[in-house]
Amino acid sequence: MADTRRALITGITGQDGGHLAELLHEKGYEVYGLIRGQHNPRRESVAVEMPYVRLIEGDLTDPTSLVRAVETSDPDELYNLAAVSHVGYSFKNPTLTADVTAKGVLNVLEAVRITGRAERTRVYQASTSEMFGGLDYNRPGAGYNENSLFHPRSPYGVAKLYGHWIAKNYRESYGMFVACGILFNHEGERRGVEFVTRKITHAVARIKLGLQPDIELGDLWPKRDWGYAGDFVEGMWRMLQHSVPDDFVLATGETHSIEEFLTLAFAEIGIEDWRPYVRQNPEFMRPAEVDILLGDPTKAEQELGWRRKVDFPGLVSRMVAHDLATQSAAASIASA
Ligand code: GDP
Repeated sequence: MADTRRALITGITGQDGGHLAELLHEKGYEVYGLIRGQHNPRRESVAVEMPYVRLIEGDLTDPTSLVRAVETSDPDELYNLAAVSHVGYSFKNPTLTADVTAKGVLNVLEAVRITGRAERTRVYQASTSEMFGGLDYNRPGAGYNENSLFHPRSPYGVAKLYGHWIAKNYRESYGMFVACGILFNHEGERRGVEFVTRKITHAVARIKLGLQPDIELGDLWPKRDWGYAGDFVEGMWRMLQHSVPDDFVLATGETHSIEEFLTLAFAEIGIEDWRPYVRQNPEFMRPAEVDILLGDPTKAEQELGWRRKVDFPGLVSRMVAHDLATQSAAASIASA
């Protein structure tokens, strides 16, 4: 069909890449995904779970590969989700984080511009609430919105801030349709176990099944505005359908501590007091911590008609249920 819309997703193997590919496929898009590395172990799972995705090899740090990816996919919409995305990892690999998460955005924008697609391809840039930093002086009561001050607290947050501003700069300099989604933490069944929510639900399921005795965590007091990733990719898509390119916060408007997450997750397996099952390990503490994040999604709700569907208890519950199902299936295969 001549009018089939085409989308290119960088970061196709990540949590959001999976949710977004699914959404775009349901909407009838031809979906392309940029995949990195000679022996990427996730290639096979993409092929199995999302056989409709056409994979193109490339890397955010290799501009030539991005030009080729843009020429091959000729996208109406490009979603730049690829990044070194883990805050703790970014402290240990700050230069790599800058190369991929900051300069990679420039490489993507240039690939669109120099292939003559500045007016044709709409670009989504994955900005983040980590750009705000959660410091006392910088914490509005109603939550951060699109006009709040930035004060990133990690190499990841700093790199993302460069990406955010270069995206805005290409919007202003070349008239490109570049939308920036400032997304607060979004989790779900596809979240990597290096993130605290999935680490907890994965461990809770294994504790219930007798596969591990406890869990080691860092600080438990930080608070996050945790939403469901499946809801958030719908917001990304809406940003690219909007009449003008703009910045939008996507958040739930609620903030909860890791302790609250633990309480709900352990309650799902009938354990009221989680303390005997949790040990603190300084290895999981950060050189600088973001104390509290709370977002104000009013603009996205009013201008895009976006609203999150899954609430905090619903998020914890679906993640624990998923991990119980997958862990018990894996355990029964292993014991067969
Ligand atoms: P982030 O908000 O992007 O850094 O997402 P994470 O899920 O990695 O971390 C959320 C919060 O959980 C941060 O305040 C971390 O310091 C805290 N945290 C406590 N223990 C852990 C842990 O074992 N792993 C991770 N990833 N975070 C932890």
